[in-house]
Amino acid sequence: NDPTSTQPKSRSSSCSSSGVERSHNVTVLGESGVGRSLLIRQFCTSEYLGAFDHSDDDNDIKVSVLMDDEETDLSFDCSPFNQNRLEEEEESTPDAYVIVYSVADRSSFQYACDVLYSLRKENHFQKAIILVGNKSDLARARVVSTEEGHNVAVSYDCKFVETSAVLNHQVDELLAGVIRQIKLKEQQVIS
Ligand code: GDP
Repeated sequence: NDPTSTQPKSRSSSCSSSGVERSHNVTVLGESGVGRSLLIRQFCTSEYLGAFDHSDDDNDIKVSVLMDDEETDLSFDCSPFNQNRLEEEEESTPDAYVIVYSVADRSSFQYACDVLYSLRKENHFQKAIILVGNKSDLARARVVSTEEGHNVAVSYDCKFVETSAVLNHQVDELLAGVIRQIKLKEQQVIS
């Protein structure tokens, strides 16, 4: 591991100098089959992650990340999305939304766009939002271009990353992006 890297690092290989621990809830949304569960499982097996707690509920997984000398606990909720849930969440919104589609499935991209639209309509855009084009390894089956994903993210002013959960490609970058976006949004609220 490069010690100067700002990638997430294992809790077991380094200790937080600040001693500050932060805990955040992350809701992972997307059409069934786009790879949400595998992405979260990859977070848990990453060499950069020391600790994870696979609770009895498959839809609720907790990981600990050390990044920029700060330890952050993330709790991932992957339960199915519906509009009612968004309305219920209005009182206790998560700190971040990760919206996943498959680059090989146009309907999942449309679904992700609909979710973004709903989040904006329900005023959840003060939270960190990351759009994820997963299955980037399926080059021949790709039907959603990187540019299309990027353009949607720009139009909603949210972060965008393409990943391959199967190849574990850009998965650590996604994890780091989630933490950075949460911090950024917190700073925006304070200032
Ligand atoms: P979920 O329903 O969104 O939680 O999707 P899953 O994580 O259960 O994945 C659905 C299927 O897609 C499984 O067969 C995964 O192995 C496969 N899958 C997930 N991510 C990728 C990926 O990045 N590339 C490829 N080729 N397949 C993937």
